[in-house]
Amino acid sequence: MIDDCVICAISSLTENKTRKKNMAEKAIVLYSSGLDSTTCMAIAKQDGFTPIALSFSYGQRHSVELEKAQKYAQLVGAAKHIIVDIDLKQIGGSALTADIEVPKDRLEDEQIPVTYVPARNTIFLSYALAWAEVLNVFDIYIGVNALDYSGYPDCRPEFISAFEQMANLATKAAVDGKELIRIHTPLLQLTKAQIIATGLELGVDYGLTHSCYDPDATGRACGHCDSCILRLKGFAEAGQRDPVAYVGGK
Ligand SMILES: [Zn+2]
Repeated sequence: MIDDCVICAISSLTENKTRKKNMAEKAIVLYSSGLDSTTCMAIAKQDGFTPIALSFSYGQRHSVELEKAQKYAQLVGAAKHIIVDIDLKQIGGSALTADIEVPKDRLEDEQIPVTYVPARNTIFLSYALAWAEVLNVFDIYIGVNALDYSGYPDCRPEFISAFEQMANLATKAAVDGKELIRIHTPLLQLTKAQIIATGLELGVDYGLTHSCYDPDATGRACGHCDSCILRLKGFAEAGQRDPVAYVGGK
């Protein structure tokens, strides 16, 4: 049974994930110019891959992250970079893709916030998978984080593991028994402070990153959305100063 073989082979992926690669091997990195995805890119390089960056113009409420992604992809280590257009505004349902206000100074609670974009990581990973098949690449990096996150269901380890299994039932190379897709999530169990410390060790310039959901017209971060709050807390806990500009000069 092909399916059984694929599932068995998936269990050996942990070992494959840790092996060092030579620089000729490529990995697709989902890149938004944010703190996490930029750190993820540096880790992919450290793991021995040549990173290829994939960003999305998905109808997000501001263009700052894409401008930064376009400007800095090469600088932060990508050999190649594309921005795929998907208009999630047509679907809406999130403060990032519809006319819904971004919550500010939100108290932590158990609720999934309105900044959650329905199925976004499923969609992004599916595009990465499609591109991986075309490029004959088997490694995909995504900077999801299960500790310091906003409660998004598609940032959890169960989701990533299920997607990886699905990917290996969906690709020609896996079904032909050639090679399996590996989804790398090096930030999954790190706190924001640990992510920042790791990135600084690897030479990441966080001044080139953008995390805010609701920047002003000049691109300065608001300092009050969930993403800004997590970022600022991470820098404070890491004992570092966040180099990006904030409205009000935080
Ligand atoms: Zn913000």
